[in-house]
Amino acid sequence: MSESKSSRTWRCTQKDCKARFTTSLNTTDILHGMTSHCHGKTEDSVSLKKLQLRQSCKRKAEDDLIERPRKIIVTEGQSMETDGLNQRDIDNVRKAMWRQRRKHQPKLPISRMDALRAISEIETRQDCDR
Ligand SMILES: [Zn+2]
Repeated sequence: MSESKSSRTWRCTQKDCKARFTTSLNTTDILHGMTSHCHGKTEDSVSLKKLQLRQSCKRKAEDDLIERPRKIIVTEGQSMETDGLNQRDIDNVRKAMWRQRRKHQPKLPISRMDALRAISEIETRQDCDR
């Protein structure tokens, strides 16, 4: 959406879609524009559902680091419409949740040197006694 002094221009959320129209600032009347989309409506609402489920699951996964992702997806899925989503979408949500959680954990060492350094940085009981 973009604004000028007297009007607002709206465009479709799909980048390749040509649908857009202009409304006046104070009313919702369409002044001019092209409101037909080059894509189906259902496709839109399914991807919106995917996005909603993904976002709320990611948030939950971050808030509760112990709960199993599958259970979070089931719980979140009950509070919203999920028809049109397939197993692959659910798997993607689960992967996104793992990625989100991993951000809160220390990086895994990728070389032997990194591993040794990581171990030497861990404070052990022996260090405290010195
Ligand atoms: Zn469109």
